[in-house]
Amino acid sequence: MYRNFYNIFWVKAHNNNFFNDIADHFAKVATTNGVEVGVPAPRSYVMKILQNKLIEDWESLFSNSDTGLRVKSFFPKPSLDINPYSSYVTQFLTNHGPFVSYLHRFKLKATPNCLCASVGDADHYVFACPSD
Ligand SMILES: [Zn+2]
Repeated sequence: MYRNFYNIFWVKAHNNNFFNDIADHFAKVATTNGVEVGVPAPRSYVMKILQNKLIEDWESLFSNSDTGLRVKSFFPKPSLDINPYSSYVTQFLTNHGPFVSYLHRFKLKATPNCLCASVGDADHYVFACPSD
């Protein structure tokens, strides 16, 4: 897998650092002559290209990772259609929500079981609980 790596670090100014001198030169040229900004494609096209690249990198990381098995069971492939800002989705996927089994881990509930006597986790409440 090919990745781009960038390093940003501090260098002492005016200390005969070749690359820093080049950066200073072009910064000076830009302040005196301006910077040509020409994007030959519409913004929407560039955004789509970046979005596809994001999904491609995300899929690669997602498929090569050993973590997130619960998330993978529901979403085998990454998608921008999943609303990552929904707290309900996050609670369901992580099993870290107002579920009896989760609250029991922190001694906030006496038992990890639902009223129906099954373990009260996210899957139970969504898919199996007969009492709701
Ligand atoms: Zn139940």
